[in-house]
Amino acid sequence: MTRSLVINTASHAVPIRREFRMAELTDRFGTMVFSEEVMKDYLPKDIWKRLAATLEDGEPLDLDVANAVAHAMKVWAISKGATHYAHWFQPLSGITSEKHDSFLDPDGKGGALAQFSGSALVQGEADGSSFPSGGLRSTFEARGYTAWDVTSPAYLMESPAGMVLCIPTVFLSWTGIALDKKTPVLRASQALNQQAARVLRLFGMNPTMPITSNGGLEQEYFLIDGTFVSARPDLLIAGRALYGARPPKGQEFEDQYYGVIPSRVLGFMADVERQLYRLGIPVKTRHNEVAPSQYEIAPTFESGNLACDHNQLIMTVLRKTARRHGMSCLLHEKPFDCINGSGKHLNYSIGSPEVGNLFAPGDNPHENAQFLVFLCAVIRGLHRHAGFLRAVVASASNDRRLGANEAPPAIMSLFLGDQLTDILEQFRAGKVRGSKGKRLMNVGVDTLPPLGNRFEFRALGSSMSAADSLVVLNTMMAESLDYAATFLENAMHGEHLTLGEAVQKLIENVMEEDSAVIFNGNGYSEIWQREAERRGLPNSPATPDAVPVFSSPEVVGLCERYQVFSRQELKAREDIQLEQYIKTVHTECSLAIRMARTQIYPAAVRYRQELASSLASCTALGVPASPDSLKELADVIAGFESSLHMLEERAGELNWTPEEEQLLSVARTCQHVVLPAMEELRHWADRLETMVADDLWPLPSYQEMLFMK
Ligand code: ADP
Ligand code: MG
Repeated sequence: MTRSLVINTASHAVPIRREFRMAELTDRFGTMVFSEEVMKDYLPKDIWKRLAATLEDGEPLDLDVANAVAHAMKVWAISKGATHYAHWFQPLSGITSEKHDSFLDPDGKGGALAQFSGSALVQGEADGSSFPSGGLRSTFEARGYTAWDVTSPAYLMESPAGMVLCIPTVFLSWTGIALDKKTPVLRASQALNQQAARVLRLFGMNPTMPITSNGGLEQEYFLIDGTFVSARPDLLIAGRALYGARPPKGQEFEDQYYGVIPSRVLGFMADVERQLYRLGIPVKTRHNEVAPSQYEIAPTFESGNLACDHNQLIMTVLRKTARRHGMSCLLHEKPFDCINGSGKHLNYSIGSPEVGNLFAPGDNPHENAQFLVFLCAVIRGLHRHAGFLRAVVASASNDRRLGANEAPPAIMSLFLGDQLTDILEQFRAGKVRGSKGKRLMNVGVDTLPPLGNRFEFRALGSSMSAADSLVVLNTMMAESLDYAATFLENAMHGEHLTLGEAVQKLIENVMEEDSAVIFNGNGYSEIWQREAERRGLPNSPATPDAVPVFSSPEVVGLCERYQVFSRQELKAREDIQLEQYIKTVHTECSLAIRMARTQIYPAAVRYRQELASSLASCTALGVPASPDSLKELADVIAGFESSLHMLEERAGELNWTPEEEQLLSVARTCQHVVLPAMEELRHWADRLETMVADDLWPLPSYQEMLFMK
């Protein structure tokens, strides 16, 4: 495929410009954001005060405040060049949506004015009938509404066609059902705040600011030349290569990770960062990842809700900037088989400026004890809700990564490190127990070494919204902190134990019941699979195995208790995840058949013809020629044809209508019947790729896609 696809990378090089100097970057940080600073500047003092109160305790916004804020926002946005505004929301498809409205309104005298009212800021209408809803809205009440999330600032999105003021919103049905990914994030953080504050009060604190989760999201992606994507229907439509023989060189040299970033890619990264800085997104690191043409971008952590919004913006900016640089950013979890896939690590902690990071062991025994309580909550939560956490990261694309011989396995476990595990084990063995609970302060714990200060969740797929994972982490933490607070209260008030003694007892209990989830060994090994089974940890290798947990009494009970999801909302999410799984496999299957029929098969038979006529001519001329390669090729073509027939037959079984009852069984057909047939077809196709003349092969090769930068 090298013939027509010679790319001139030099022509895409971006010259170094003034914008990339440090002073410019710091000066421009957040200039596209309607931040608290800007609001203070633009709003009358009393209005700002009332808005600030709303920001802090989530009180509803009065209409006169909303009107004043809307006016300020409009003046600011128009001064920056905006012409439109949009309620930006995150429907259950996992991507983001926006409907643009112009500020322009007719003035009734043949002219026009720029208008933006408080009600247009606070609430919008959105026809939800075309968004996946898992049966939550019957068509007659298809309209939903969007409402401003005041805790996530409005910002300006630039494009060559002008600038749009984007307002982060939740998306709900008129009956209050969450139709989006943001609403549960806000609900779960409330639950977390309440329970964390209860625990802190036992430690003598009385927090006035909300305790929130913090999220630092490392985003992995592939970046390849755009020409290749145009020439590969699979990358274009499915986001991954359905065919492609293993390249002579993959990632085995380990020369890519943290290697020198190619200059064209660096030009792209700098452009992305410049835009993200202006959007107030604190991008911190960039580097090469393990696989060829794979990279990572990571901002400094922020509050969980904001981190999720910002991650969506990062994905948007990555995609659109890549196009501008003549490249394509692939966010799929496994665009290329046989090299590493892409994830999105969620670094998670909880705390507030007032109480600090609650996942960090403190400087004194009292703080250490408090840290151990929060650590116990992580252990307990993860052990009890591993299945739920696994389910929210289940998708057809992430299935190709999780558990598939690659980071991380589909079994949820907690890597604590030997030191911390040791300390907790000592508690379990009762070795740290003292007569008056004093020894908690003296033995082991007061000398806690620096142990890190966050929990890193690695199972998230690169293309996914981080919101679902954050919701599960916050909800499971809320439940475990609730348990811990009640346990400590009972021990102290009922049994008259000291705080130290009560904490010891809690640790013993949690270690006794929930430490099975701790595993400090090699999670990729066979041994771990067996060990995890022995420990009774759930292992769901694929989406259809994982998502039915949404309807389990444990998950429904958990979510209803903390008012994060109703049973109905959970069911809708389960159905949508299954539906998306089926649609993905269905699309890939049709595409695999189409490419096999119209691209790969024709190339193979042309080459067979070429070999056959060459053999015939040689024989006619009495020139020695062996039929071996012709025979071998013919055999492989025969294998290819029969597995193509098989896939076509099996695809026929996939004629489904999105009827709830059948979703799981259709998904299982995808998993056990269709996907294996696609694998087999690919096996033959990839063999053909290594046999057919390169100038006849219709698809760019792995080698070309991954190594031409
Ligand atoms: P790594 O060792 O994984 O490369 P980094 O230091 O690059 O870790 O950080 C990865 C991410 O973790 C960053 O987004 C960083 O801001 C975030 N992070 C660091 N500390 C915390 C914390 N206390 N809570 C949440 N995220 C954090
Ligand atoms: Mg990391």
